[in-house]
Amino acid sequence: MQDSINRLPKQAKDKHNENKKFFAKLKKKPPKNLDYIMQKLHDEEFERTDCLECANCCKTTGPLFTDKDVDRIAKHFRLKTQQFIEQYLRVDEDNDYVLQGVPCTFLGADNYCSIYDVRPKACREFPHTDRRKFQQISNLTLKNVAICPAAFNIVEAMKEKIK
Ligand code: SF4
Ligand code: SF4
Repeated sequence: MQDSINRLPKQAKDKHNENKKFFAKLKKKPPKNLDYIMQKLHDEEFERTDCLECANCCKTTGPLFTDKDVDRIAKHFRLKTQQFIEQYLRVDEDNDYVLQGVPCTFLGADNYCSIYDVRPKACREFPHTDRRKFQQISNLTLKNVAICPAAFNIVEAMKEKIK
């Protein structure tokens, strides 16, 4: 798995222009059943992919923490919201709460998330390949295919399926 993760940035770069064109076309005329197609491709890919063998998202990019995430996770640690923020988070250039660094401080050596049940919404939803109106997050997906092998495979499968 690590080998394929290491190869991913180069593979994603090689596919970037093709993917960009594909998403531009998709945005103009998304198939009526796109949500259904995406759910199927997402489910099929994640039947094959074991995130515990990967954890590349947790290692290389951090989630945004919404106010709700912050309150929920602070409560989990029995910390005051402000204490939790000071200990674990920083404000980024878009004014969002993000991790102070990567790999994520909550990631274990075994790739398990130590706050799995209360993890941020962005972590629960990554790589967003089963979200509705998938064509609306094409810019984000163009970045995610360089991080997430599952997202990469799903986009490759999309291009085969939607001509
Ligand atoms: S969501 Fe993608 S990057 Fe994250 S662990 Fe699963 S396969 Fe890896
Ligand atoms: S909170 Fe958990 S799921 Fe989210 S990046 Fe950290 S280790 Fe990964």
